[in-house]
Amino acid sequence: MIVSGTLYRGLIERYRARLPIAADTRVISLCEGNTPLIPLENLARSVGRGLSLYAKFEGLNPTGSFKDRGMTMAVTQAASEGSRAIICASTGNTSASAAAYAARAGIRCFVLIPEGKIALGKLAQATIQGSVVIQIKGNFDDGMRIVKDMASVAPVAIVNSINPYRLQGQKTAAFEIVDALGRAPDYHCIPVGNAGNISAYWTGFSEYAAIQPKTAACGYCVDTCAFPFPAVIATRPVMVGYQAAGAAPFIAGHPVAEPETVATAIRIGNPQSWDLAWAAVRESGGWFDSLTDDEILHTQRRLAETEGVFCEPASAIAVAGLLRDIARGRIADGSVITCTLTGHGLKDPDTAIKQSQGPILQVAAENEAVKRAILDHL
Ligand SMILES: *Cc1c(COP(=O)(O)O)cnc(C)c1O
Repeated sequence: MIVSGTLYRGLIERYRARLPIAADTRVISLCEGNTPLIPLENLARSVGRGLSLYAKFEGLNPTGSFKDRGMTMAVTQAASEGSRAIICASTGNTSASAAAYAARAGIRCFVLIPEGKIALGKLAQATIQGSVVIQIKGNFDDGMRIVKDMASVAPVAIVNSINPYRLQGQKTAAFEIVDALGRAPDYHCIPVGNAGNISAYWTGFSEYAAIQPKTAACGYCVDTCAFPFPAVIATRPVMVGYQAAGAAPFIAGHPVAEPETVATAIRIGNPQSWDLAWAAVRESGGWFDSLTDDEILHTQRRLAETEGVFCEPASAIAVAGLLRDIARGRIADGSVITCTLTGHGLKDPDTAIKQSQGPILQVAAENEAVKRAILDHL
């Protein structure tokens, strides 16, 4: 590849030294990462208290969610090992991402999705990108259980977040936040489903603080050890994880059998990264909490209406939880707070349209009628 300018070539190239990747490995990339950290100035003004709020808008990754960060690593690794197929269970975004990276790598992709519980955009992505979509009459947790068994009966590499390369890729979002702010945030708020992402962020923040998290699995490094690096930051953020009330195993303290929520991306009852996520919250002095579907949808709309940021319902929970925790006095005044908006609102147009309040007026195709409509709504 000829690159003479500043062409961004994806997170593996950007953070190669800190990732378990051999120098001669063929990188499977869609130039993922490098997403904006958007200041939420209107929201910050309305909550006051000298708080600075930022959204890491992961919906702007190539397939519209943060899953691309992990998938570039997982598929690069699978392809380099000679895998001819990958498989995942998915609530939607993992399948969209896996399908895209498999297409690029020229390998087969099998995705197990829960029947009827996947947002329209995600299904469209998985199918047009040529993956084999297997709808199961069950939920994500059923799919996960089956996928884990399939690796032993068929030559397929699992690319769910139990694949350690996924979390390695995803930790780069924490690097980007610190690189953008020039410091660590005081709090980081994030949706929690299967709990891989909160674990990955904690790994990333910890590595930048030159602390190998006690619980981080090691041994992925290929050429050289990714440690030690000098500390980039002196502090790490308090990690706060939010779950939907109907799918809140971390709040219950045990897996939930029938998870249910409008935020389908986090409709998970048996999170695979249970211990890592608890370690992130405990070591950082953070907490888990849950929010109702109404609170989630209200905040999705509020973000869109007041900041022009359209994320999917599962993403909005991070901001919904933060705003409630600010109101409850759990967040210190003057703090710098970052929230991960995990996926793009266009993923789930049905939910957005159902609850949008913007008027759609029907008028005649005449100047007078349009003028009246404008004047009525100024
Ligand atoms: C996958 C996903 C989540 C949950 O992330 P986990 O790592 O499973 O906790 C949240 N939001 C969106 C949009 C997702 O795609």
